[in-house]
Amino acid sequence: MNVAVIGGGWAGIAAAVELTATGATTTLFEAGRVLGGRARAISIDGRTLDNGQHILLGAYRETLALMRRVGADPERLLARHPLQVVDETGFRLALPKWPAPLNVAWGLLTATGVGWREKLATAWWMQGIKARRFRLDRDCTVAEWLDAAGQTGTLRRHLWEPLCLAALNIPAERAAAQVFANVLRDSLGSARREDTDLLLPRADLGRLLPEPAARWLVANGATLHLGTRVEAIAGTGDKLTLAGNDYDAVVIACAPQHLGGLWPAASIAYDYEPIATVYLQFGAKMRLPFPLFKQSGKYGQWVVDRGNGLLACVLSGHGDWEGLADADLATTLQDELGITEKPGWHKVIREKRATFSCRPDIARPDCVTANPRVVLAGDYTWSDYPATLEGAVRSGRRAAHVLLRKRYNPSS
Ligand SMILES: Cc1cc2nc3c(=O)[nH]c(=O)nc-3n(C[C@H](O)[C@H](O)[C@H](O)COP(=O)(O)OP(=O)(O)OC[C@H]3O[C@@H](n4cnc5c(N)ncnc54)[C@H](O)[C@@H]3O)c2cc1C
Repeated sequence: MNVAVIGGGWAGIAAAVELTATGATTTLFEAGRVLGGRARAISIDGRTLDNGQHILLGAYRETLALMRRVGADPERLLARHPLQVVDETGFRLALPKWPAPLNVAWGLLTATGVGWREKLATAWWMQGIKARRFRLDRDCTVAEWLDAAGQTGTLRRHLWEPLCLAALNIPAERAAAQVFANVLRDSLGSARREDTDLLLPRADLGRLLPEPAARWLVANGATLHLGTRVEAIAGTGDKLTLAGNDYDAVVIACAPQHLGGLWPAASIAYDYEPIATVYLQFGAKMRLPFPLFKQSGKYGQWVVDRGNGLLACVLSGHGDWEGLADADLATTLQDELGITEKPGWHKVIREKRATFSCRPDIARPDCVTANPRVVLAGDYTWSDYPATLEGAVRSGRRAAHVLLRKRYNPSS
């Protein structure tokens, strides 16, 4: 089977690796100069940085498996930490390295800055949603869900709302509760302790997957066309034509806003949420108390200690921060962190369409289209999750498997 994969983000990479590993002749087209899409390494002022700070979870099983498959060792490239949410108000929730769910229960019961009554009510609530397998009767916003559960105190402000913003990239007032519940199910609600861990990159995003995957694909016979934007897909019979060649099947693995030009019938008009990553370089000795720190000021949300004095402040979803100029944003976040030392260097990277707006009941397409030879991949097609690396990787593998099944039954 001769397959074209359009889009070399993490979804397209996953599809191309799966197809190639199973013997398909694979050609991967990527409009950018490197693979990785919204999760890639970029070069700025002589440094290699990420286009945006990414945080992974132990629950990202398929992403970790894909990394291993292409020769990238997650144990070396990712720093694994038991989950800790800590901020400057005195709030701290830290999971011990104990088997799940004991680790979550202990973390909750020993959280600082929260009263006993609230802890017990929250433990009771979590037990209830677990018993219902994290299924909601109807989708609503995360804020409505928390209101209905009486989750209106410290844990809401210091845990649930910040986790929602980090995971779904949209504030609780607008975020889809069912998708948030799915994230909780596979992380804090998982029976495997490792799933509750935080995985923070020790290397740039290129080294995590796109670069080793490119080497693996070429070594295993796939063809990569970087810097090549596919303009159209033609043909309706046995062959599909794109970029001057014929293919038996096509995986379209681009972001939803680029789908309309290639396959208008499947296109969906989404709203999008931005993410800004504000890099602040301090002296090499500067350290955060824990490598992931929650900010509680007017603007700051989460900050990651990248080592050697480099902090990456993450601002998720639409908000007042968008109105600040880069230099003002850098100064404001430094002030909110309470660091008196001026950063020697800063850089603000704004991704305007970082993710689709994960609101209640939005349409999420399946991977199949009206043409059995054309399948979709991409974070937006993995409806269980918000826009994440894991959703992208799972969607890519699924798209490949749908085509691979058809190879043995081309008329299906
Ligand atoms: C700043 C930022 C921070 C994030 N933080 C996190 C995080 O902490 N944790 C997490 O799990 N997720 C995070 N995400 C989300 C995650 O990066 C995305 O969900 C994931 O990378 C999407 O991958 P994808 O392959 O579906 O799409 P994309 O990465 O968008 O890949 C699509 C690719 O298709 C290419 N393309 C489009 N049209 C064409 C064409 N016609 N021809 C050829 N190529 C084409 C594009 O150039 C692109 O490379 C973040 C995203 C951003 C932007």
